[in-house]
Amino acid sequence: MTDGGEQAGRVTRRRLVGTAAAGAAGYTVSSVAGASAARAAARRSADVVVVGAGLAGLAAARRLRRRGKSVAVLEARDRVGGRTLNRRVGRGRVVEIGGQWVGPTQDRILRLIKDLGLETFKTYVEGRNVYYREANPPGLRRQTYTGTIPPANPASLAELARALNSLNSMAERVPLEQPWKAERAHAWDGQTFETWKLDNTTLDETRDLIDLGIEAVFAAQPRDLSLLHVLFYIHSGGSFENLINTAGGAQDSRIVGGSQRISIELAKRLGDGVVLESPVRRIAHGRGGVKVHTRKGTWEAERAIVSCRPRWRDGSGTARPSGPARPADAASADGLGDQMHGGLRRALLAG
Ligand SMILES: Cc1cc2nc3c(=O)[nH]c(=O)nc-3n(C[C@H](O)[C@H](O)[C@H](O)COP(=O)(O)OP(=O)(O)OC[C@H]3O[C@@H](n4cnc5c(N)ncnc54)[C@H](O)[C@@H]3O)c2cc1C
Repeated sequence: MTDGGEQAGRVTRRRLVGTAAAGAAGYTVSSVAGASAARAAARRSADVVVVGAGLAGLAAARRLRRRGKSVAVLEARDRVGGRTLNRRVGRGRVVEIGGQWVGPTQDRILRLIKDLGLETFKTYVEGRNVYYREANPPGLRRQTYTGTIPPANPASLAELARALNSLNSMAERVPLEQPWKAERAHAWDGQTFETWKLDNTTLDETRDLIDLGIEAVFAAQPRDLSLLHVLFYIHSGGSFENLINTAGGAQDSRIVGGSQRISIELAKRLGDGVVLESPVRRIAHGRGGVKVHTRKGTWEAERAIVSCRPRWRDGSGTARPSGPARPADAASADGLGDQMHGGLRRALLAG
């Protein structure tokens, strides 16, 4: 589920999936995009324009509404939910193609789920885990185990424990609200997680286990992640172990009806305020506020909130916000946010 260049070929399929999913949850996309969008488009002004109807944008819009502000949420796609997407698998059931898990410490999203009248259920964890490892003589060795510690070489497990301790204590030194202000932010952001891993471990199995954890949490390779970003993420999740654990960790629970329902319910409540199929191409800052340019026209507002990643989805490849540069969001500026776990929690910082 990526934006930008890889997007083009997938639009049609995703649209179909998105429409089916929204229907499955008892809410048709056209109910937002139809008459209400026409009314909103005719008005084209609001106190605040929010770009993107994913969790972050919708949560921000909800909060502003509650404070009496008028809000227009402009979404490029023909559906809400962004990187959460339900897909019907028959008999009224859905699976998620995107963010799905929530867990303890993710207080804001858990509160929002409750506020919206949604429910959660525990992730299935019964039975034994399977551990595959390249063996000597060559070939894959299959072992099963229970609990959270794999049957790896004890030396690797000890090295892994040391590495995780270091990461957890470094993570505590990264301020959650302003990760770029960590004392060592520059040095940590100037290296990849891979570099750190190679400098701080020696055994292949330790490195493989770390890779496994990183790939599971970030859906990205250690070489593609800033060390600072990983530390920020560990801090926001409590510890590395919390991020990778199922029961009691970040994969503890799922949402009945699928995670996209959160956005669908938020959008229902925002009604006319959500305008679909309106990719924002440019934001111009002026004295009186901002002008937000979309394919369908220009919106005027006092302020704009951009809730999507720097690589915008406008199909032209040229979209960009103009105006004063602000400290980059260290969590997303690396452009690798597509599949980050914990994102439901992160997205809800505004909610
Ligand atoms: C496979 C996968 C698994 C994941 N698993 C989990 C998980 O288990 N737990 C968890 O917490 N997180 C998980 N995540 C991450 C989580 O889904 C995301 O972090 C979260 O949904 C991001 O929300 P957002 O609102 O910040 O961004 P997005 O959902 O990306 O929303 C941004 C919105 O902006 C729109 N947009 C982009 N450009 C424009 C434009 N120019 N004009 C108008 N609109 C625009 C996009 O279409 C999109 O709707 C997973 C993600 C994926 C892909």
